[in-house]
Amino acid sequence: MPEPYRVVSMLIEAIQGDITGLEVDAVVNAANSALAGGGGVDGAIHAAAGRYELHAACAAIGHCDSGDAVATSGFRLPARWIIHTVGPVWHGGNHGEEGTLASCYRRSIEVATELGARSVAFPAISTGVYGYPPDAAARVAVNTLRSLAGTAVVDTALLVAFDARTLSIYRELLGEG
Ligand code: ADP
Repeated sequence: MPEPYRVVSMLIEAIQGDITGLEVDAVVNAANSALAGGGGVDGAIHAAAGRYELHAACAAIGHCDSGDAVATSGFRLPARWIIHTVGPVWHGGNHGEEGTLASCYRRSIEVATELGARSVAFPAISTGVYGYPPDAAARVAVNTLRSLAGTAVVDTALLVAFDARTLSIYRELLGEG
């Protein structure tokens, strides 16, 4: 068997906008462990993809642990796939939050690699209702993605900020500040 195709580097870019409109191979959803749909980016993705179809696909999978990731079709999104990952709820930072958040990025890239997705867009996982401080979360996102460069078929990881503050945090960490 030939070795699967590997790229040697992964471009990590920060942009501001609505993740549901992006023309990427896969968008990551900040889901809950019941994959039941919710507010925030989860609600936006369900609305744009098609609530009925996405709900049925999520119900067929049933559950996802914190720090893990599962994939469905993107249905009516421009993206071909949705990778649902479950971030940690922030409880002050001494409850394994950082490891779980890093695992979300790592597992999402692993699932993207299994799918053959070359471009993947991430929302700022856990920084909404789950309460993770945005700058600490951004550091975990950038460091984890950097550590995965060269291990995945993913050649472009987009960090999608919904607000200007999150964008400036990403830009500073990526050396674009
Ligand atoms: P969590 O429950 O993991 O905290 P939320 O959806 O509440 O997830 O928030 C995660 C992040 O997604 C927040 O920074 C929020 O501003 C952002 N967000 C909300 N809607 C969108 C969207 N349509 N596109 C990109 N990011 C979004």
